Amino acid sequence: MIILKRIDFEKIHKYALAELPNEACGLIAGTESDGVKRVEKVYLLTNIDKSEEHFSLDPKEQLAAVKDMRQNGFVPLGNWHSHPSSPSRPSDEDKRLAYDSKASYMIMSLIDRENPVLNSFRIADNFSEKEELVISDEV
Ligand SMILES: [Zn+2]
Repeated sequence: MIILKRIDFEKIHKYALAELPNEACGLIAGTESDGVKRVEKVYLLTNIDKSEEHFSLDPKEQLAAVKDMRQNGFVPLGNWHSHPSSPSRPSDEDKRLAYDSKASYMIMSLIDRENPVLNSFRIADNFSEKEELVISDEV
């Protein structure tokens, strides 16, 4: 299970809208214990592909984010990206490029711009599985 705060959900939504028509992307970090991941910080990164169908995280921003995670005592939990006009599930490319079977891959679909759909997946060996995502109202 992975828990994301509503304010962070909204942060992702706002940034994903601002980056349209391109995909937006970033990282998530927080804590993990007893199989429960808790997202404490969402990082908004630059999609250096500037594409509607692909994303690549800016490597420098990625390094800075990982450094920030360490300073805050957070562990990297995975990443997120938006699908401007396709459903909230990993594309074939998303599956092919997934390198960490323990990471959570969050995908926000913006088919309905105002009511985005966010799902979280684990991806291993070209196979993806949805994981339970809880949007929490705590601050
Ligand atoms: Zn994708």
